[in-house]
Amino acid sequence: MRLRPGRSAPRSLAPVPEGDAIHSAARRVGDALVGRAIVEIETPQTRHAMDRWPERLEGRSVRAVDARGKHLFLRFEGGLTLHSHLRMRGSWGVYPRGQRWRRSPHRAWLVIRTADHDVVQFDGPVLELMSDGRARFDQRLAGLGPDVLADDFDESRFLRRLREDDQTRGIGDALLDQRNLAGVGNAWKSEGCFLTGIDPWRRLRELSDAEALAIVRELRPLMRASVERGGGIGRTWVFGRARLRCRRCGTRIRARGQGDDNRTTYWCPRCQA
Ligand SMILES: [Zn+2]
Repeated sequence: MRLRPGRSAPRSLAPVPEGDAIHSAARRVGDALVGRAIVEIETPQTRHAMDRWPERLEGRSVRAVDARGKHLFLRFEGGLTLHSHLRMRGSWGVYPRGQRWRRSPHRAWLVIRTADHDVVQFDGPVLELMSDGRARFDQRLAGLGPDVLADDFDESRFLRRLREDDQTRGIGDALLDQRNLAGVGNAWKSEGCFLTGIDPWRRLRELSDAEALAIVRELRPLMRASVERGGGIGRTWVFGRARLRCRRCGTRIRARGQGDDNRTTYWCPRCQA
């Protein structure tokens, strides 16, 4: 999101990438790289200076680009995978060669050039090159819950993960835990609870399986549509609308930090009573 001069947005509205944005980025990056000759790879940050990725990846082409939850994978020929996670501030950019990048080159962590495109990862704190074998068995990746955007979303696995979690946890907090469900972030979490009329503060033990599934079933088509649009939530019911009137009932939207990470949860105290 670009801010116009003289305007400031609340911190909570910063565009934190969620699963839909990552899946959309995977498509754009894949379109630019898969089957194309790679001309150059750069890792401009000093942190990666010793990693010799340009040498290790030289002459290899990208077989596939895919996303799982908020993780993105560039799969190179010869059994090497680049794993990226953008956390709060990172982004992927795909630019026709010669076009100006939308973020400063100083913030680039990885640049992959083909004859036609620059593919750039900006501000991405997680960027690692691993063997395909390690990518398959990596503990953090193996621990991910089912991807909300997967074609074959596994509902029973989602419920099993949710029930293995601490049942005193609020559903709004539990939905953000990528071990329960991969790909949902703060914005979609708040919207999903609103659209199903569920109070995000309700404890898991007070929430039925049907209610938990209702949230996911509500979110999946919305997030999949967002991937088609290029990612991003658009107009929201409650997210980012603290103290504004509920679009449905006119009550003032509430916002409060929730969970260990104190992420702001937005809800309508009337529609989600
Ligand atoms: Zn309302």
